[in-house]
Amino acid sequence: MLQMLAVLSRRGPAAAAVRCLSSGSVDVTLPLNFWAGERRTSREECSKEKVYEPATGRVLCLLEPCGAAEVDEAVKAAKLAFVPWSKMSGMERARVMIRAAHIIESRREDLAEMEVVNNGKSITEARLDVDSARLCIEYYAGLAGTLAGQHIQLPGGSFAYTRREPLGVCVGIGAWNYPFQIAAWKSAPALACGNSMVFKPSPVTPLTAVLLAEIYAQAGAPDGLFNVVQGGQETGSLLCHHTDVAKVSFTGSVSTGQKIMEMASKGVKSVTLELGGKSPLIVFEDSDLENAVRGALMANFLSQGQVCSNGTRVFVQKDIVPEFVEEVVRRTRAITIGDPLLESTRMGALVSRPHLDKVLFFVDQAKKEGATVCCGGEPFVPTDPKLRGGYYMTPCVLGDCRDEMTCVKEEIFGPVMSVLSFETEEEVLQRANDTTMGLAAGVFTRDVTRAHRVVEQLKAGSCFINNYNITPVEVPFGGFKMSGIGRENGQVTVEYYSQLKTVFVEMGDVESLF
Ligand code: NAD
Repeated sequence: MLQMLAVLSRRGPAAAAVRCLSSGSVDVTLPLNFWAGERRTSREECSKEKVYEPATGRVLCLLEPCGAAEVDEAVKAAKLAFVPWSKMSGMERARVMIRAAHIIESRREDLAEMEVVNNGKSITEARLDVDSARLCIEYYAGLAGTLAGQHIQLPGGSFAYTRREPLGVCVGIGAWNYPFQIAAWKSAPALACGNSMVFKPSPVTPLTAVLLAEIYAQAGAPDGLFNVVQGGQETGSLLCHHTDVAKVSFTGSVSTGQKIMEMASKGVKSVTLELGGKSPLIVFEDSDLENAVRGALMANFLSQGQVCSNGTRVFVQKDIVPEFVEEVVRRTRAITIGDPLLESTRMGALVSRPHLDKVLFFVDQAKKEGATVCCGGEPFVPTDPKLRGGYYMTPCVLGDCRDEMTCVKEEIFGPVMSVLSFETEEEVLQRANDTTMGLAAGVFTRDVTRAHRVVEQLKAGSCFINNYNITPVEVPFGGFKMSGIGRENGQVTVEYYSQLKTVFVEMGDVESLF
């Protein structure tokens, strides 16, 4: 059970959030597990962990993780809901999903505010996350009625056909950087294909997944269709090992992804893995510099730099390095840091104190290894006394970086951009691909043939030409190499949440060899 310890009232904009949170269906004093159509408590004897508000550093609630009994109840509920839901026509499922999308649209503001309290990102970005969640549900609602197999003609009038069938109970396990959006990106294709889901958010950001569960229920989903269990590693592994679970869709770090794959392999369960990255962004000297700079900022500073696809290795062609760095630094210094609930804020708080310390450690390490701090990389203390305990830092641009530096090799997952100089296309391709990761990559150039030639050779699942970090839900998203398996979004994701059944139909006599 998650129980709020205090009423959330700290300042003007937050008070608005609090009012909507403490009235109506978003009452934060309620438990944050949800299964079989209702909010649920965990067993009393479990050990509790504090959950903090990143913007202020104060305790929001206690996390009481679900154990085997609760996980089993949630999976049972999902198994029961699977029966009627998988029998519905795609159009009937679409109707429920569209209703859910409408509810999300009407509650855009309170959902976004809750996500800010949960995660620390700016309200401007949180609104876009809520929009992305809604669009994803609308998109897959649109596809639900199109799911179809194939008809294959065979000799003598015989034929075969394929049916696209759901998998059963799917598990979604989320990271803390896009809590509400990840829950939607996983549940939308799963539900459209006729599956049910048990979702476990990150224990660092447990507040908003349950709101999605309530929204699906309000939209008319059968009880148990989308369930939420809270907890960390133990709860996650109980879900992965559960014999009634058919699939695990995971978003998180590479090391956890490896464990998930291992656990799922015991039951030969299908997995989707959306893991980390250390993506390159290549800026050629013929680029439109204004757009290349904007692209580099989008590639590094969204969500306080806590984005898996971030292009944190910014390779800039030698002759334009000084001009590029000067402009990037000018704009980085102008980023307004502070209260994430204020409209004017562009960068909020990092997700937790230990994570902030880790990011600052990477900056120190970069200095020791010879990088130049062109700007930022310092803890930031807002003037508002209520925010003093929050986890803020100034966004950082590191110059004079070399490939072997820790800041260039490791995923920092914070607002830290490493700028590297290159001379030739061949050289930069070799260096850009010299990583075990392959989530994303970007190229800025005005030369259209070079753009496509470079992208063809980049070993990354999601590539951008003359832009970065845009994720329309119609477009598949996912990684190569150790950045993952499978895709989210786009039509192809239907294949990751369904299975093909082949049916042979004999129209003549059986030709027996015996
Ligand atoms: P994490 O791997 O620590 O945790 C992710 C989730 O896995 C959490 O819900 C956690 O409780 C759960 N978990 C941890 N150990 C588990 C276990 N043994 N069994 C089952 N579940 C377990 O990642 P994080 O710190 O929450 O997120 C940051 C990472 O996520 C970064 O590496 C980032 O690149 C990655 N990420 C990837 C994408 C993508 O789409 N590729 C998106 C967002 C984040």
